[in-house]
Amino acid sequence: RRAGLLTVTARDVRYSGLTSGQNQLFKSNPECIRLPRTTEQVVQAVQEAVRTGKRLSVRGGGHCYENFVDHPDVKVIIDMADMRQVDYDPQRRAIMVEGGATLGEVYHTIFRRWGVTLPGGACYTVGVGGHVSGGGYGNLSRLHGLVVDHLYAVEVVVVDPDGRARAVVATREADDPHRDLWWAHTGGGGGSFGVVTRYWFRTPGATGTDPSALLPAPPSDVFVVWLRWPWEKLTETRFTRLVRNYGTWTEQNSSPTSPYKGLTARLEPAAKAAGSVLLSVQMDTAVPNARGLLLDFLDAVNDGVGVTPEEYQELHQLPWMQATGWPGFWMSNPTDRYKYKSSYQRKGLTDEQIGGLHRVLTDSDYDHPAFVVSIAAHGGQVNAVGPTETAQPHRDTVLKLLWGTSWANPGDDTRQFDYIRRAFSTVYASTGGVPVPNAVTDGCYISYADGDLTDPRYNASGVPWHDLYWKGNYPALQRAKARYDRTNVFRHAQSIRLPHTV
Ligand SMILES: Cc1cc2nc3c(=O)[nH]c(=O)nc-3n(C[C@H](O)[C@H](O)[C@H](O)COP(=O)(O)OP(=O)(O)OC[C@H]3O[C@@H](n4cnc5c(N)ncnc54)[C@H](O)[C@@H]3O)c2cc1C
Repeated sequence: RRAGLLTVTARDVRYSGLTSGQNQLFKSNPECIRLPRTTEQVVQAVQEAVRTGKRLSVRGGGHCYENFVDHPDVKVIIDMADMRQVDYDPQRRAIMVEGGATLGEVYHTIFRRWGVTLPGGACYTVGVGGHVSGGGYGNLSRLHGLVVDHLYAVEVVVVDPDGRARAVVATREADDPHRDLWWAHTGGGGGSFGVVTRYWFRTPGATGTDPSALLPAPPSDVFVVWLRWPWEKLTETRFTRLVRNYGTWTEQNSSPTSPYKGLTARLEPAAKAAGSVLLSVQMDTAVPNARGLLLDFLDAVNDGVGVTPEEYQELHQLPWMQATGWPGFWMSNPTDRYKYKSSYQRKGLTDEQIGGLHRVLTDSDYDHPAFVVSIAAHGGQVNAVGPTETAQPHRDTVLKLLWGTSWANPGDDTRQFDYIRRAFSTVYASTGGVPVPNAVTDGCYISYADGDLTDPRYNASGVPWHDLYWKGNYPALQRAKARYDRTNVFRHAQSIRLPHTV
């Protein structure tokens, strides 16, 4: 018999460690943390919070960029970290992952058991709870799409309008009466509809009962290489050429049929204090002429720049599993405070945007080396899925940008926030400080949550935050919200709003 629902209160030695996630900017002060081990215990935890009128939040892997979990008003945190089983479910013919598992556990287990993977993020400690429901993007996305493109079903503990908590299973089957709840979890973000206790994965069209045929196989081996252009050699003209080349290349090589689908790249212009602009590349060695294609790509990016890049890490062939935690600098420091932003581009950065980026990165007043704009080549298989098939609508983009900085000293908060806000609003100055959906830019990514998008001081575009994240899919998400969480039990600063409150 299983023990009862574990509860940790302020007097407990475990309390302090359970009241913050990874980002040390946020700390909560709940009355208790519930640590369920079964779906029934999640139902119990939710039911008791609702019955006693206590605001709750849900923690998966604790990697939220904003205070959606650790908010001062939250009285009960449901921490899912003890539900992390990964197994094959023969009944649903799908690989089941519990809502508190981390990406590293999932990759490790499904690869070693069945030789398959999911195209999610490179940080092993990110939780599937928030990652999958937000879309899930990573090094294999150009090859295999987003994680949600392989999501078959979810089990979610929801609260009915009369206050009763219950578990609902929702699949992508056309005749499933709860298909809208499945769809809401294909990019609608965590913390809006209920507690995800289980995900099931199976690639659309996969047949049979052998788990090794139900999800994509990763590359056996990959080439990896890192190059760097030292800032002291990069004039504005050279920098512009480099970033423009990279954007042009992605415009030409990001269709779902491109031979370059097996290539993942990130160009990482960092603040001048960091010393250089980095390019990291990974390429599936099984692609015909993989090495040649990779070298052609490097030539195209450096064409006419006038600086020979230095090899930060020379070209290596590595087993995929060994390379999958790469780039290793995601390993986080436990004292880190951080602020991130995101943007999608349907075209490469324009010269005006590159000029703005150059200006802020070379600002001599800013001497912090951790600020970086990670410009990932996007598209490929991600763009094979239509914008309404999943809740994640960004399906014809070529670049995905992650803007971020981290620091340890609370006294540095204001300076760091000011700088990243200025950098972002400078590059997107012509569209109200944010990348509005238009011919060049395409909004933002909910999993790189950015509270500034709701603030008119930083978003003067007239395009509301929810349209930056979900574009035309927002009304359908609101309908799902009204159906599954009419009393708005699951809420945070950027949760899906009930239709009448918008
Ligand atoms: C170091 C780092 C690297 C990252 N790399 C990538 C990357 O490569 N690709 C990418 O796409 N994203 C990446 N992310 C972003 C990441 O996907 C999101 O921050 C994600 O929301 C984290 O999920 P979590 O469960 O770890 O976070 P949490 O802080 O636990 O939760 C995030 C949100 O999801 C909700 N939630 C969590 N679990 C559940 C659940 N079981 N049921 C219902 N709601 C739940 C929470 O309430 C909260 O609103 C990265 C983040 C970090 C910090």
